[in-house]
Amino acid sequence: MENNNVRVRFAPSPTGPFHIGGARSALFNWLLAKHSQGTFILRIEDTDTARSTRESEENIKAALQWLGMNWDEGVDVGGSDAPYRQSERLDIYRQYTEELLAKGEAYRCYCTEEELNASREEQLAAGKTPIYNGRCRHLTREQEEAFLAEGRKPTIRLRCPENTALAFDDMVRGHVSFDSNGVGDFIIVKSDGMPVYNYGVVIDDARMGVTHVIRAEEHLSNTPRQLVIYRALGFAVPKFGHISLILGKDHKKMSKRHGATSVDQYRQMGYLPEALLNFLALLGWSPTDEEEIFSVEELIQRFSMDHVSKNPAVFDIDKLNWINFHYMKQLSAPDLVAVTLPHLIEAGYVTEPVDAKLQEKLEAMVEVLRDYLYFGAQIREHAKPFFVRPEVADEEARAMLAEETTATVLAAFAAKVREAEVADAVTLRAAIKAVQKETKIKGKNLYAPLRIAFTGVMHGPDVAAVGAILGKEEMLWRLEHCK
Ligand code: GLU
Repeated sequence: MENNNVRVRFAPSPTGPFHIGGARSALFNWLLAKHSQGTFILRIEDTDTARSTRESEENIKAALQWLGMNWDEGVDVGGSDAPYRQSERLDIYRQYTEELLAKGEAYRCYCTEEELNASREEQLAAGKTPIYNGRCRHLTREQEEAFLAEGRKPTIRLRCPENTALAFDDMVRGHVSFDSNGVGDFIIVKSDGMPVYNYGVVIDDARMGVTHVIRAEEHLSNTPRQLVIYRALGFAVPKFGHISLILGKDHKKMSKRHGATSVDQYRQMGYLPEALLNFLALLGWSPTDEEEIFSVEELIQRFSMDHVSKNPAVFDIDKLNWINFHYMKQLSAPDLVAVTLPHLIEAGYVTEPVDAKLQEKLEAMVEVLRDYLYFGAQIREHAKPFFVRPEVADEEARAMLAEETTATVLAAFAAKVREAEVADAVTLRAAIKAVQKETKIKGKNLYAPLRIAFTGVMHGPDVAAVGAILGKEEMLWRLEHCK
């Protein structure tokens, strides 16, 4: 696969939120293209006019861009086979349909929904696989005209060869073969003139010179029909790779029950694009058993369809969190502020614009909190005491406040703070030590009252660092009002 003639595409139907599974399909195609210095195409499959929306298309494009998967050809950027929205390519499909009808490879079918259902029921009752019964296969001109006169609107069906193995070598699943007798003549154009998915996809993939089709396993059963269309139109068949389902941790198909399923939700929760990309790559691909962290460059360099597993991939949120934590750790304080700021604004702790003083406070705060954050939105639960004076609610903390040593510690520390010229973390640390020396109170009884005064709880980040961010006045207020 080391050649630059690789042409792959991602062909989403813009019918709803951009699912994690779609992003994974896009990624495998994109990685193959980048690895081979090939071309990545973005085509929008919007022939389901009732369900397709521009909003969804925009959402998919924004998510791809956010993840860094830019496309070389396709919607918005153009290319040699524009347009790249199927709803704008109807004339192209029509030409091929005319050709198939003229060659007798396809025919008009006037059967109604009811008639088709009845035939289906009959076949099922007889224990057969239901396929089209062929009633319109050999209509005369007069018969067709009579149907038209009744007001029937025809679909167009492709003749499917009988007793033929529809076989291909799948990059993931190996040799796959379907019996054409289980397929039957199938519809390629609906009665409203719209091409069905299988038809549009083949014409587009062939005309766009797609060499490798990597897509979800759920499309495996569509592939025999697509092979019949490739043959009828005399197009070269690309290589297929059907990647496995994504399952939840309970090994059931991933769904909303398992938590967030769309790329947008993860973006909104403050996951980093490079972490999500790394995680998505591991949903089915792994070069070795041990490695988990891959930069985009490493993914591009090492990606190969040979290491894509046919076993289902399991979506493990703990693993995503762990990977995201790893990438968050590498962020500079200003970058970490940028990732967490939307959540601080949403929580009402910060309002824009952020001036230099506030920016400084935020940078110090994220440094103190970074060990607690798997993803950006978690800042909300940890940042509160930096913006809101705490109430001591939990029992453990209340019990600590009732200790007789507590008042001594709070008063002694407040005295040190009052005297201090600067209240940075180093000074405060020294002040705590001095209080220990003076009062002989140490350990939990020394630190916990201070932390409770500052944050309302017993456990949390370094108390001196927290105090330094609060500043002298605020510390004094909290020390004096801690009850
Ligand atoms: N529009 C199809 C989908 O979103 C594309 C499938 C394919 O890649 O062929 O599922």
